[in-house]
Amino acid sequence: MSRMAKDIIVPFIPGDGVGPEIMDASRNAIDAAIRKASSDEVSLVWTELVAGEAAQKKVGQWLPEETLQSIREHGVALKGPLTTPVGSGIRSLNVAIRQALDLYANVRPVRYFSGVPSPVREPHKMNMVIFRENTEDVYKGIEWKRGSAEAEAILKVIRSLGANVREDSGVGIKPMSEHASKRLARSAIRYALRKGLPSVTFVHKGNIMKFTEGAFRDWGYELARTEFAEETVTEAEMLSGQDSSGKVIVKDRIADNMFQQILTRPEEYSVLATPNLNGDYLSDACAAQVGGLGLAPGANLGDSVAVFEAVHGTAPKYAGMDVANPSSLMLSGAMMLEHLGLDSAASVLVNAIEGTLAAGVMTQDFTRLGTGLKPVGTRQFAQEIIRRIG
Ligand code: NAP
Repeated sequence: MSRMAKDIIVPFIPGDGVGPEIMDASRNAIDAAIRKASSDEVSLVWTELVAGEAAQKKVGQWLPEETLQSIREHGVALKGPLTTPVGSGIRSLNVAIRQALDLYANVRPVRYFSGVPSPVREPHKMNMVIFRENTEDVYKGIEWKRGSAEAEAILKVIRSLGANVREDSGVGIKPMSEHASKRLARSAIRYALRKGLPSVTFVHKGNIMKFTEGAFRDWGYELARTEFAEETVTEAEMLSGQDSSGKVIVKDRIADNMFQQILTRPEEYSVLATPNLNGDYLSDACAAQVGGLGLAPGANLGDSVAVFEAVHGTAPKYAGMDVANPSSLMLSGAMMLEHLGLDSAASVLVNAIEGTLAAGVMTQDFTRLGTGLKPVGTRQFAQEIIRRIG
């Protein structure tokens, strides 16, 4: 007896610049992977939404409420990169989407794909998943210009509390709450448990900023102790002889040391949980070690909504030229498939990307790095992946 095919509605935003090209390539590869893995029992029904320049042209708004509403309703979206509008009052569309949908965990897995040129000797040792807090710290965007009435008012308060700050200062405030820090740590630990990963490391600058970054670390440990007592052990407990078998090791590193560690001892780290700014720097530095942003996927997760997107931007100089690397968005698509419970389709897609790169089929961003290989265009790269999926 034939079973009914299951349709899953997936909203997508093609995005600006190279967005539409890499989105087409990615959707085709994702569909092929689902067909292969589920023998047509599941299919995605893609629903196009507008945001960014396309939305500005079509409906005169950068981020229409209908777009946000559709993502809320379906709980998921695949998003191409969006141009940051200049002078529109929106600081960044990407940040606006994350905040409007309360997508509090920015998840960026970084691993090596064989054959890809890398600036380090042993790129395969890098296999980390960065959970970056997505709503607070510098993302709150609380800052005032030097000389503004707001900056002067804040400086007055700060001085009245005993701090000595120069009068010609601009002022920024980075709030970090127990609530947001703990929910981020919770999602990182849950992820490590679900995936059977060995450790979660809180990365912070708590030696200098004790009540924000230091508190982030302390709240992380507290959460591990109160909510995951049976499943986790701290590094200190492990070093003092406590049995750690089958448990996730919880540890912390000061951010500057962590930047050394990703180069000198990458194999000792698995899941990293970070405040917003540390995670921004760290995820690009990690991505650089395995070949750059072209291979860096990302997910923005909330409690009921998830938006998957490439880490890179619109690369406007390559728009319409069929040269952009679609791997980052494709790998974000693989994360989305896992999120939808389509794990085998995700594996089929990742394996095909792996095979294609290992065979030396690459876009110009990789071939130009001394490989001696001839580049393929965006479309041909996608076709090669689909051919491998079979
Ligand atoms: P970008 O778009 O990421 O591009 C910077 C450089 O990265 C490109 O010139 C190119 O390097 C390389 N690159 C990025 N994506 C590539 C791809 N798929 N294939 C091949 N090479 C790729 O950063 P940007 O120029 O700073 O930003 C442009 C716009 O994108 C801005 O409006 C920015 O606000 C926006 N943006 C959006 C997002 C997002 O939607 N999540 C993220 C970041 C930036 P080479 O020149 O060396 O070849």
